[in-house]
Amino acid sequence: MKQAWAVFLLPAVLAGLVVGTACTTPGGRPNARVAQWEARYHDSGLGQVTPAQLLGEVGVKVDLIPPGRYGRGRYRPMQPTYITIHSTQNYTGNAHNHALALKRGALRATRRPGGNRIGFLTWHFTVQDDVAIQHLPCREQGEHADFDGPGNNKSIGIEMCEHRGNDLALTIDKTARLTAYLMRAYNIPLSHVVPHYHWPRISPAIKDPHKNCPHFLLENGRPGPTWQWFLRRVHFHHSRLLPEAARPLG
Ligand SMILES: [Zn+2]
Repeated sequence: MKQAWAVFLLPAVLAGLVVGTACTTPGGRPNARVAQWEARYHDSGLGQVTPAQLLGEVGVKVDLIPPGRYGRGRYRPMQPTYITIHSTQNYTGNAHNHALALKRGALRATRRPGGNRIGFLTWHFTVQDDVAIQHLPCREQGEHADFDGPGNNKSIGIEMCEHRGNDLALTIDKTARLTAYLMRAYNIPLSHVVPHYHWPRISPAIKDPHKNCPHFLLENGRPGPTWQWFLRRVHFHHSRLLPEAARPLG
């Protein structure tokens, strides 16, 4: 995400709780961080699943922003053709805190031509180690990527939590499962699963249009081996799916 996190973020920054980015290992070998995450997974016990069963593994809690208010003040329909992955960069707020903030209209942004269109930040899901909370129907536009660009107009936005005590390995894996489910539900190819980085924010006020997000899946602020590893994780869960239709989530 990009702004308006002062409420949550400032105390964390003051406390110096800044998490380092993933380290890169030359030669394409898996880096230490990825190895640590993989050690938490038990893939051999995972078999084929129906889409409904995969959704059950994710554990989605629907807790939508009220229609007609705040970030849903105006109905903005969307046909999703991309999935955009973010991380919160918020080291104190969990998924429930984010849901509450979204429902209360607390995540404000400056509305301006060529910038934020609605005066609020919104996205579709926030994932932490034990739950994924849905904030917006997937067929409504969020405001999480590139202003009036395709990242907002055509993509489902997923935020991964980074608060202390949250198991990042499980958060990433849950996000991969949710992404695989959404690919099936909306017929989205793996090539359309992208990091926030993918969507440049074109604005004279912004020096570097490519956001370093989700920072722990990028190398030096760019998609590299760790992002490719995440895509393989998504593909793994997608390949577990039996050939059945998945119910759209709004
Ligand atoms: Zn982001």
